[in-house]
Amino acid sequence: MKGFTFHKPRSLKEALAMLKEADGKAKIMAGGTDLLGAMKDGIMQPERLINLQEIPDLANIRPDNDRLHLGALVSLHEITVHPSIQKRFGILAQAAQEVGSPQLRNMGTLGGNLCQRPRCWYYRGDFVCLKRGGDQCFAVTGQNKYHAVIEGGPCFIVHPSDTAPALLAMDASVRIAGPDGEKIAALEKFFMTPRDNVTRENILEPDQILTEIMVPLPREGSRGIYLKARERRCWDFALASVALLLNIDDGICQEIRLVLGGIAPIPFRASKAEEVLKGKPIEIELIDQACRMALSGARPLASNAYKLELTQALIKQALLTLSNK
Ligand SMILES: Cc1cc2nc3c(=O)[nH]c(=O)nc-3n(C[C@H](O)[C@H](O)[C@H](O)COP(=O)(O)OP(=O)(O)OC[C@H]3O[C@@H](n4cnc5c(N)ncnc54)[C@H](O)[C@@H]3O)c2cc1C
Ligand code: SF4
Repeated sequence: MKGFTFHKPRSLKEALAMLKEADGKAKIMAGGTDLLGAMKDGIMQPERLINLQEIPDLANIRPDNDRLHLGALVSLHEITVHPSIQKRFGILAQAAQEVGSPQLRNMGTLGGNLCQRPRCWYYRGDFVCLKRGGDQCFAVTGQNKYHAVIEGGPCFIVHPSDTAPALLAMDASVRIAGPDGEKIAALEKFFMTPRDNVTRENILEPDQILTEIMVPLPREGSRGIYLKARERRCWDFALASVALLLNIDDGICQEIRLVLGGIAPIPFRASKAEEVLKGKPIEIELIDQACRMALSGARPLASNAYKLELTQALIKQALLTLSNK
């Protein structure tokens, strides 16, 4: 790993000034659980690390009348044990609980979870692929068991975050601070596909900081679930995951947001499956149809077609559970 200087700003203003001065040669550090590995893997070689841990308010959890405000530095562990989050925003608590191990959840933050870099073994190895500025994607003809089955190309990473699908299912938004002030973006617009820009996964510029995640209170009677399939139970990234928010009233599906993780370069909103169910009674035949439609545009690579069946099984399990079938 290359040498770097370590900075601990005491305010957001100070952190932003440091980023500006570094002119793209600094990286933000939150819990460091992804960042330090990425530096060791050589995918990032910052000259300066700007640690956000001493900035007041960035680790606050503040529920108000209609939404939950989560500072970007809130740890994943805090999310799993916070009573209001467990009660009103259960999908998020479930998803945070599925991240890594207890140690990773203690150190890892929500902001870091959304901004973590992909785990593609070529990218994390010594391969100068498209994402590293090279001219080919080694996963296309190489080992692609863990890669994208939908929305892939020219790079086939999957977005590794567990909390992102859950937050997207709850229609969350993010607050971003930069040299020109603050802006708020829907989480749905935060992530970037490789077609948008193969070297990035989100809209954050090098001089911007994600400061807050805001989650609207789900409407009365809504239920949510997060399910994740992985190879090792102790800790592992998702082979596929499903975040589902469902509101059924009078037997009719009034609201549905279905987001899939581990299968696409961004958390993937399964809108076609939502359309099958919205405004209708949830029956087994419709559930099966929704499962088929969820991945209707999929184009698996040589070794990852198993993800289609796996994801469909998770969607079915989620829908059956929440509709009490
Ligand atoms: C063994 C292992 C297993 C893991 N398993 C999982 C898993 O199952 N599921 C999962 O989702 N993740 C997993 N992770 C990834 C990681 O631990 C978590 O995503 C964690 O939440 C990252 O948060 P952090 O605060 O440590 O981020 P950091 O490592 O500090 O930062 C990650 C990236 O985000 C940027 N960043 C951080 N905060 C901000 C901010 N506020 N504004 C702008 N940029 C920011 C950093 O510059 C860096 O590029 C695993 C990691 C390891 C090492
Ligand atoms: S999937 Fe993306 S990160 Fe992996 S080798 Fe291909 S271009 Fe590189």
